[in-house]
Amino acid sequence: MFSLRDWRRGRVLRRFPLDETLWAEVIARLPVIDGLNADELGNLRELCTLFMHEKSFEATQGLDVTPRMQLSIAAQACLPILNLGLDWYDGWSTIIVYPGEFVHRREDIDEAGVVHEWDEVHSGESWEYGPVILSWADVEASGRCDGYNVVIHELAHKLDMLSGEPNGFPPLQSGMDVGQWSQVFSVAFENMNHRLDAGHDTAIDPYAAGHPAEFFAVLSEYFFEMPRLLQNEYPEVFAQLEAFYRQDTLRRLDKGL
Ligand SMILES: [Zn+2]
Repeated sequence: MFSLRDWRRGRVLRRFPLDETLWAEVIARLPVIDGLNADELGNLRELCTLFMHEKSFEATQGLDVTPRMQLSIAAQACLPILNLGLDWYDGWSTIIVYPGEFVHRREDIDEAGVVHEWDEVHSGESWEYGPVILSWADVEASGRCDGYNVVIHELAHKLDMLSGEPNGFPPLQSGMDVGQWSQVFSVAFENMNHRLDAGHDTAIDPYAAGHPAEFFAVLSEYFFEMPRLLQNEYPEVFAQLEAFYRQDTLRRLDKGL
């Protein structure tokens, strides 16, 4: 069926091809995308072109967000939606980039009516219907297959928010079982919390255990960055993420090594 959006996107791809050298430079620095075949790389490249055209980048604190920085963010942002499509990032348009970790002032009023204020330090944030905020220093530390990826983390929150408040329950692919997703993630989330409560170390960043939304976002980081570790720890979660993202990251990692 004819879609005006597809037509516009086709025109953008023809008119604004990515610079070959820049693309080669950026992907060479991202082991997380090693192992993609030629078709997948071509698809990622098109998604990046459209992503950079449809989203706007805003710099803060005197930072200059160069085309290389934009492309590095775009490549990591588009990896999770490689087989889903850019429409999964509908509903928001801005990426704000700080040079490093940023501080947000929080405020809360307790039951006695006392106002509490405190500062929180962040490497990234995703606002419902609002921008994605990233620390560039953390973007640079991402994509190295060590389990940490602030871009994938924040974009996983965006996918989660497609079905309302972030709760670790994004809209699933057709054919996926909602009850199974819920059960698999709840069991794994409780397991991780029990292990931490018992004083055990966990292979996965304990930050995941704070909230089901963080569990989904952090485990998405591992799904792309360290799939073997995730599969060893929580094979059923791995299978759910494989069905959700429609990617076989384990095969890719083995090929990339
Ligand atoms: Zn988070």
